[in-house]
Amino acid sequence: MAGLHPAEQRRPDHHRRINSRVDDSSALTQSLITRAHELGFALTGIATLEPIDRAPQLLDWLDQGKHGSMSWMESHTDLRTDPGRILDHAKSALVVADLYATRATNTDTPLKPGEGRIARYARGRDYHDTMKQRLHTLADELRALAPDSDTKCVVDTAPVHERELAQRAGLGWIGKHTLLIHPKAGSYMLLGALVTTLDLTPPSSQPTITDHCGSCTRCIDACPTHAITPYSVDATKCIAYLTIEHRTPIDPALHEGIGDWAFGCDICQEVCPHNSPRTPESLDPNHRTPNPVYHSTRDRLDLRDILTWTPEDRSRELKGSAMKRSKLDMLKRNAMIVLKNQGVDFTSSCEHPTDPCP
Ligand code: SF4
Ligand code: SF4
Repeated sequence: MAGLHPAEQRRPDHHRRINSRVDDSSALTQSLITRAHELGFALTGIATLEPIDRAPQLLDWLDQGKHGSMSWMESHTDLRTDPGRILDHAKSALVVADLYATRATNTDTPLKPGEGRIARYARGRDYHDTMKQRLHTLADELRALAPDSDTKCVVDTAPVHERELAQRAGLGWIGKHTLLIHPKAGSYMLLGALVTTLDLTPPSSQPTITDHCGSCTRCIDACPTHAITPYSVDATKCIAYLTIEHRTPIDPALHEGIGDWAFGCDICQEVCPHNSPRTPESLDPNHRTPNPVYHSTRDRLDLRDILTWTPEDRSRELKGSAMKRSKLDMLKRNAMIVLKNQGVDFTSSCEHPTDPCP
């Protein structure tokens, strides 16, 4: 039973599948949602697939080049703005969220000089793999019940605006920092969706969650590189983009703001009142513990060590991790910036110590 979420461990094997009449949409939907929870998804909901409300803002953001070098975002804008196009005859989507940290588990021990911070989502296994496996399980079971139906699993890599679908599915609202926030569970979540040609019926208990940001500006005030304007993030200034996606040298004007962050940045989430720490007992049982598949195997990086890594070291050290997205030269670039910010001498670890810091 190792690797199964506690809810899944409680169910005998022969019950572990979607179990409902396909001609009863409400019962089928409820069964699908129950099964999704058994597979460890903390939040679930059903979304309709009309074009997204934020299409004008998304196109404007792209026009202004705020996506930086993420040129793939310029492709398939028709799909990004109209999620129903992702699959022929698509009618609805089951939207799911994994919690990779909770309000009971989101504090860190201080770093020592020479250590760099890792964004929480990247401290365990790569979410693309772990979410897709479970979404494919759901898709297989759904197709077995409804052989004429079709499905498509969506996890970050497909051109779908998952946050807006998640908002529609009652999983939260999109905050001023542009991430989805559940009013009780917070924002340390990863989103996925199962788009289907079946007309799933949202449960009567599915909430409509309105914007709870109000007059708060904590994330905007705390962002060290001033990347946030309300409901928009300029990726070209965002530490998460700069340290994970941006492949060339980082503008020196942004180095200081990067602080200790060697891979990603959680500051706008850390300061959000909807992530403030809570005791486990005060949280909904589904929101107390992160999904165990995201168990942290490394919450910081030894930066001087990284400067000595070979490509083989990088492959071995980051096997199965979300950090494998970063090329070795990007990791070394980030390490040098953080070491410089910490005032740590790294010349003895550097292969080419006379090179200018990237
Ligand atoms: S992730 Fe960091 S840099 Fe990016 S918007 Fe949030 S606080 Fe700013
Ligand atoms: S910090 Fe405040 S403004 Fe920013 S997302 Fe959270 S509630 Fe909204």
